[in-house]
Amino acid sequence: QTVAMRIAAGEVVERPISVVKELMENSLDAGSSRISVSVIQGGRLSIVVEDDGCGIPREDLPLAVERHATSKISSIEDLEAIATLGYRGEALASVAAVSRLDIRSRTNQEDSGVWLRMEGGGPPKVDEQNCRIGTRVQVDDLFFNLPARRKFLKSARAELRRITKVVQEFSVAYPSVAFILSSDGKKIYETQGGRDRVDVLKSLWGDEPEILTSSGARGPYSVTLWWQRISKVSRVSVMAFVNGRRVEDGTIRAAISSGETHPGGNWAVWVETPPDEVDVNVHPAKTEVLFRHGGDLFAAVRDGATSMKGRSLP
Ligand code: ADP
Ligand code: MG
Repeated sequence: QTVAMRIAAGEVVERPISVVKELMENSLDAGSSRISVSVIQGGRLSIVVEDDGCGIPREDLPLAVERHATSKISSIEDLEAIATLGYRGEALASVAAVSRLDIRSRTNQEDSGVWLRMEGGGPPKVDEQNCRIGTRVQVDDLFFNLPARRKFLKSARAELRRITKVVQEFSVAYPSVAFILSSDGKKIYETQGGRDRVDVLKSLWGDEPEILTSSGARGPYSVTLWWQRISKVSRVSVMAFVNGRRVEDGTIRAAISSGETHPGGNWAVWVETPPDEVDVNVHPAKTEVLFRHGGDLFAAVRDGATSMKGRSLP
């Protein structure tokens, strides 16, 4: 394994949250209904993601940790549509190159599972192992072989804060899936699965004050907004999703704040649009996006926000 490979891996894997994200995306792709994430020291020491998804067939597991061996992309149209969440076919290989990796998996076609261990991109060891249906991926000692990179990790608390935020965002994006997050052996967040999005928002924001909702469409964008108006606060907290993916976007924020009434409180914004209206590939590991018709999106969000502001007046 060359230094170049490790550095390439560092492009995909920046910090513990990148690992958590990639593993959760794989679990979602596998059709899981329950995903549990456990970290020790904010993921600096250990990250475990366990799911009840379809599992990895025994003969496929060694391939799954090889770069580009099993990309879900079969054509360039796929790349544009991004039908599945994972699409670069290099997440596991990248994680394997910069950590001590342990994967146990079993499909519902097999009576026993398979167990793979790998250190710093070295040759994988594969054994048979009894385990339940689904996949458990454990990533220990991230960047143990890339000390310069390890120095850039933040404190356990700061890394945990990012992980918590992203697990919460995934739980809002996938209300039908149950998510559990544990830190240093203690459960710190949990959703039940099989619920509506607003139920997940309640578990995140609390029942009170009431959560208002509105939806509408403009041009190619259809938008649903949820607002928990907190009259005392001026802070505007926005969680936005485009076609199911969490995004950071200035247009949406600006549109929410553009009305006359103050928009303080918690906002969630769900945007659906044909895939070619949005470029999510600006950077594979980042959450910025480009909208082809940003003006329409602005108007759709502004109108929805304005209608709710009106309704919430005394
Ligand atoms: P990609 O997701 O782009 O295909 P990854 O490196 O993330 O690439 O994963 C490689 C392959 O390993 C996947 O294509 C999938 O076949 C398999 N895999 C990884 N994680 C899981 C999981 N949790 N459940 C089932 N299969 C998985
Ligand atoms: Mg993937």
